[in-house]
Amino acid sequence: MKILIINAGSSSQKSCLYDLTNNYLPEHSIEPIWEANIDWTVARDQGILTVKANGTRKNHYINYDYPCQGISQMLNTLIQGKTRVIKNFSDINIVGHRVVHGGTDYSEATLITPDVKAAIARLIPLAPTHNPSHIKAIQAIEQILENVPQVAVFDTAFHCHIPLKSAAYPIPYKWLEKGIRRYGFHGISHKYCAEKVSQILNKPLTSLKLITCHLGNGCSLTAIKNGISIDTTMGFTPLEGLMMGTRSGSIDPAILIHLIRKYNFTANQLNTMLNKESGFQGVSGISADLRSIIQAVNEGNSRAQLAFDMYIHRLRLHLGAMLGSLGGLDTLVFTAGVGENSAIVREKTCEAFGFIGLKLDPNKNNNSPVNTDIADDDSTVRILVIHTEENWAIAQECWKIFNQISLP
Ligand code: ADP
Repeated sequence: MKILIINAGSSSQKSCLYDLTNNYLPEHSIEPIWEANIDWTVARDQGILTVKANGTRKNHYINYDYPCQGISQMLNTLIQGKTRVIKNFSDINIVGHRVVHGGTDYSEATLITPDVKAAIARLIPLAPTHNPSHIKAIQAIEQILENVPQVAVFDTAFHCHIPLKSAAYPIPYKWLEKGIRRYGFHGISHKYCAEKVSQILNKPLTSLKLITCHLGNGCSLTAIKNGISIDTTMGFTPLEGLMMGTRSGSIDPAILIHLIRKYNFTANQLNTMLNKESGFQGVSGISADLRSIIQAVNEGNSRAQLAFDMYIHRLRLHLGAMLGSLGGLDTLVFTAGVGENSAIVREKTCEAFGFIGLKLDPNKNNNSPVNTDIADDDSTVRILVIHTEENWAIAQECWKIFNQISLP
């Protein structure tokens, strides 16, 4: 069984193809047989398509004017040249899309129908940089791979059961009725990590209180009780909560009013400032990448030091908030680029929670841990580093839906 995964973002298009022999879903993730990434940020009028398959890696240039042709060019590498892994497109059984915003309508992965497409389109105002790319990708697949079932796996779905007291903002009630509420994001990753914890610790999810820290370019925390997300730091948009690579996270909303009144900021300028020019990038003036920040800290750069200290401070603050929401903690999880790779971020974060008996084992923490417990034996809380696999999580959902729709 061949499952194509499409992860269409605002500035990139990441895809991969899984081959499940004999339609069998293994317990642990497998490597895709083909991976492709289109990066639209490298040149003004061109994107670069990088394809990995059959032990080779090929780069192709794609014209920016034709993003749909980009998908077509990308898919052609499945059936042509050195990266060819299938005879023709009809070998693909199902396509899974990561869809950033499904609103409150979708609490589970779902087969894409005209209604689902309409819902994704309706939600464009809430995810203006992502949902249009999802619609384009779905339409391109409809044209190129005729009649193949497509599945939407929503990043918001896992957070659908967050209680209203956490989802609602304390502003006039009419805005809640108009959909201004916490939706939460990174749900595919938070859910995958929770399930992986249950596997690794060999305990049912229904017995666990977890906080998952997804720390990548975008960062969010989720409080998970009995396998259900009960609170999360991202909100109406993926801007709320933690300090991130280029995003500010939560700030006093009156700052925006001040910038509008005193400096005539427009909505677009505020949007760019908060999403692209803040976080590590904005505070340090150096980079959005933690590795460059740490290098600058080691060279004595004081703004890089401030950015790093703020990142840790805010991480601890929000962890405290999730802890309060959860009313206890069995397992703390670190995942994504920073969470999986930065021992210093894990160490500094955990340091603040020694008072609840949470204790890292420094050797385990410094030894490039993957899918393992790095807590000290005496720790009251297990601390796990989990390699998040969003594409595999999407493939698992596709497998379930494919088997449901193929039943006689
Ligand atoms: P995205 O949110 O785009 O999926 P990732 O989860 O890949 O991002 O995380 C990217 C970030 O991970 C980089 O910006 C970088 O700051 C961080 N990162 C990756 N590797 C390391 C490392 N070895 N040490 C510290 N930070 C790292």
